[in-house]
Amino acid sequence: MARTRAAAAPALTIEPIRTLLIANRGEIAARIRRTADRLGIRVVVAGQDGRQSVDLLDGLRVIEAALAAGADAIHPGCGFLSENADFAEAVEGAGIRWVGPPASAIRSMGNKAAARRLAARLGIPIVPGYDGDDQSDAILLASAQTIAGPALGGLRHRVMIKPAAGGGGKGMRLVEELDPPETFLEALAGARREAAVAFGDERLILERYLSSPRHVEIQLLFDAYGTGAHLGERDCSLQRRHQKVLEETPSPAVAEPLRTRLGQAALTLAAAVGYRSAGTCEFLLNDGGEFYFLEMNTRLQVEHPVTELVTGRDLVADQLRIAAGEPLGFTQDEADAARHEGGHAVEARLYAEDPDAGFLPCTGRIEALRWPAPRTAAEPGGAIRVDSGIETGLVVDTRFDPMLAKLIAGGATRAEALANLAAALDQTLVLGLVTNLRFLRWLVAQPAVLAGAARIDTLEAIWPPTHADDARAVSTSAAWRAAARALAGTTDAGWRLNGPARIRLESEGLEQTIALSEDAVGDAGIGDRSNESPPATIVDQAGVAFVDEDGRSVPFRLAPPPDVDRAARAAAGHGPGAAAEVCAPMPGAVLAVHIAPGASVESGQPLVTLEAMKMEHVVTAPTAGIVIEVLVQLGWQVARGERLVVLGEGTASP
Ligand code: ADP
Repeated sequence: MARTRAAAAPALTIEPIRTLLIANRGEIAARIRRTADRLGIRVVVAGQDGRQSVDLLDGLRVIEAALAAGADAIHPGCGFLSENADFAEAVEGAGIRWVGPPASAIRSMGNKAAARRLAARLGIPIVPGYDGDDQSDAILLASAQTIAGPALGGLRHRVMIKPAAGGGGKGMRLVEELDPPETFLEALAGARREAAVAFGDERLILERYLSSPRHVEIQLLFDAYGTGAHLGERDCSLQRRHQKVLEETPSPAVAEPLRTRLGQAALTLAAAVGYRSAGTCEFLLNDGGEFYFLEMNTRLQVEHPVTELVTGRDLVADQLRIAAGEPLGFTQDEADAARHEGGHAVEARLYAEDPDAGFLPCTGRIEALRWPAPRTAAEPGGAIRVDSGIETGLVVDTRFDPMLAKLIAGGATRAEALANLAAALDQTLVLGLVTNLRFLRWLVAQPAVLAGAARIDTLEAIWPPTHADDARAVSTSAAWRAAARALAGTTDAGWRLNGPARIRLESEGLEQTIALSEDAVGDAGIGDRSNESPPATIVDQAGVAFVDEDGRSVPFRLAPPPDVDRAARAAAGHGPGAAAEVCAPMPGAVLAVHIAPGASVESGQPLVTLEAMKMEHVVTAPTAGIVIEVLVQLGWQVARGERLVVLGEGTASP
């Protein structure tokens, strides 16, 4: 039987991609390359190390690099350029295929206000809010009061302020129920400033802050001929600072009728903007099964692998096929059937950040790295996948995206997938910089996570834990001994006092003297647990020992032997006024110095403002006192733990 095509359907023009330029770096560039290699597509990477080659922020140079390399397509990856409609247009204008949606679709969805208005027109529920063009303080305040409920006696709901052009949680502000109008207006001004800096667009939207919803999103694929299908949902409710940490599919909260409704809403929106390629519609979902459209991300998302594990699809291959002009190639029923067979998948994001210090970003050199062995779904134990952009020797500095890698685990059931992920996290090792690995191991064992009960505010409620044994902040004796053993060979700094050789170490502000012989016990309360196997340890070129403590890389340095004279002076009460050293809680650039030597400061008074990875952090005085020394200047780059200001006791002399 001959097949006929409807007269109106556009003709199929398929032209395979031969050379692909990947305009991104890190794990996503490695991820895209893997598929391209498998498909026999030649790959050129722009800005692989983020500095030496092409400057990614300069889209035109990326296009020039693509033309020079003879690339016939550009994949923008996940960040930087992927949601830049002007860049997409410039790529196509240069006769290169754009692996992504049409520029017009990026434009329609790139602005949260326009996207909300479109969703509302299509009958898709949105969070009560304000998305108008009038951006005057008066209108925004009046809208906030309407959104929040009766203004008399305080607001009933919290109000979220978001940059309309926003992403990555930047510029978002939450205003509390009982905050006065001045607080709202201040938050508005702050959000405008941050939006202007981060997105070059200070327009804002307002939304009612929903109480404890889940974040559920639908993965879509559309071909160039208007045919689309969804690949089910992902639940990304586990977040810190409104950014995702753990993602899974299917959502423990979504059953079939709801999934169909979510999928329909997402497909309707995408079709309305003439979508093509992979995309995601994000929703907030409450316990009553009501959902609200949040935004559409017109690109491949960081968490796409869980969908790949469960559907058996390769979303990058789908993007490349679609960019080459191939039709979608499967129906919604086929996608649903694949999902039903696919079990469950969970992803954990490994970040260079310190959960014990408010999730602030960390920097360092990767001295040692170990991953779990990858497995396919067919192998016993279930699928294990590692998407990583790091390797031993890499220096992670403040210019890097703090997301280093992702671990993805599958299983026939949710419990199996979680157990598989927990085992994979246990087998992972990173030494040389602090990561959230220990935190992730803790997280996947939490009752709320095991029960599938997490909402967007769950993580904040359970972290930091109140029980000390839940997450140890202080290093164990085994770690001190491992560091002492590792450092003893590198130095002649050890000394002997009528007994075994001793060595004095410093770690994260603590000093200890360690006896080097196997069975001896060090001083300062280091208990002996001789049956423990020594933790993984490595010494870097600067003589710092990094010891693995349940997934946290803890640095140890040699310290001089205790100064008997100083100790005696202090005991006799003759010492100088105890000085407090205020150190940088994160690496970053000095954005402002608020005090000068000689000034008296109150406890909590701002001393220095640091900036790293587009985040500002104000370092404040831990106690009242007088500024003895300021050790940094405007514009300086400081390391985590570096001394910023020395405070002395007392007040300034008049
Ligand atoms: P961005 O694009 O900057 O990532 P989103 O609009 O996608 O910002 O929101 C990020 C996260 O912030 C959501 O996943 C959710 O946890 C929280 N959030 C956003 N809007 C609301 C809201 N109206 N009510 C409650 N939480 C919200």
